[in-house]
Amino acid sequence: MTLPAPADVVSPAPGAGRRVRLASPRGYCAGVDRAVIAVEKALEHYGAPVYVRKEIVHNRHVVATLAARGAVFVAETDEVPEGARVVFSAHGVSPAVRAAAVARSLFTIDATCPLVTKVHKEAVRFAAEDYDILLIGHAGHEEVEGTAGEAPAHIQVVNSPDDVAFVQVRDPDRVVWISQTTLSVDETMDTVRKLRERFPNLADPPSDDICYATQNRQVAVKKMAPGCDVVVVVGSANSSNSVRLVEVALESGAAAAYRIDTAEELDPAWFDDATVVGLTSGASVPEILVRDVLDRLSGLGFADVEEVRTATEDLMFSLPRELRADLSAAEGRPAPRRRVRPRSTVDIHPV
Ligand code: SF4
Repeated sequence: MTLPAPADVVSPAPGAGRRVRLASPRGYCAGVDRAVIAVEKALEHYGAPVYVRKEIVHNRHVVATLAARGAVFVAETDEVPEGARVVFSAHGVSPAVRAAAVARSLFTIDATCPLVTKVHKEAVRFAAEDYDILLIGHAGHEEVEGTAGEAPAHIQVVNSPDDVAFVQVRDPDRVVWISQTTLSVDETMDTVRKLRERFPNLADPPSDDICYATQNRQVAVKKMAPGCDVVVVVGSANSSNSVRLVEVALESGAAAAYRIDTAEELDPAWFDDATVVGLTSGASVPEILVRDVLDRLSGLGFADVEEVRTATEDLMFSLPRELRADLSAAEGRPAPRRRVRPRSTVDIHPV
């Protein structure tokens, strides 16, 4: 990996040994990359406007950049003109949303992350087997609404370990838990432990629902945060995995931790007495925003950057099937099963 070039130090701050510990992996995951590219390719291929239900990913910069190119973000499908094209976000949608799109004759491009789709399929299967499904996640989050919508009669949302006492099930021996993909691993396991105290025969999902990207970013922060005077997490307030990284940093020993959307939100006073600053970013954050923060920190005297790497990621997802088919047809060839494609360009065309 090439570390960002530090900017010139314009006014060296007092304090020897000032440095940045930069967590890796950080930033874009495969599901976010795919969703952002899907909107970019749709704009290129079909032309503006392309409607997008909800924020394609939870990042203000990404949404603003795509909006400037012609994406129109709407809260619900009834805001999309009949017969128009709409992209479903990486967080997934419920069957009711799909049905509403069909009723309006919309052309849909489903950018739901395949790892969210995996959880949807688990919900459908466990509901068919008549389990009570305990969905650990944040009520009101789009991903949780989408998953819960797959089997509303069978699913109840468990927000936190404190919610466990209020769970009611039909048969304590036919209960299973599943989870949102972007939770704190430790808090989720705490919730599962408490659920199992109440329901000893609680069944587990077939594989981890908290996705690889969420887990990898939390593991990197756990290694990076001890000894940091301040940890900065780049990510938007509605980004679940970004907010979790702030919590993980504090639990792992950082003296203070702040979440910011952009470098402009850095408060120099946070670093007055700091020597070591930790830096990471959520799974929906383009790298250019991290580079901006590094430049700003360099200007505050934190020019030395040390990478703390705990994993290497190379996962890529193919574009949504509907889009691949149209792109292939335009090129006069059959739709490939998988498609190698460039990375999103959002991070090199900031607004
Ligand atoms: Fe998919 Fe995980 Fe990224 Fe969400 S954070 S889009 S589940 S890879």
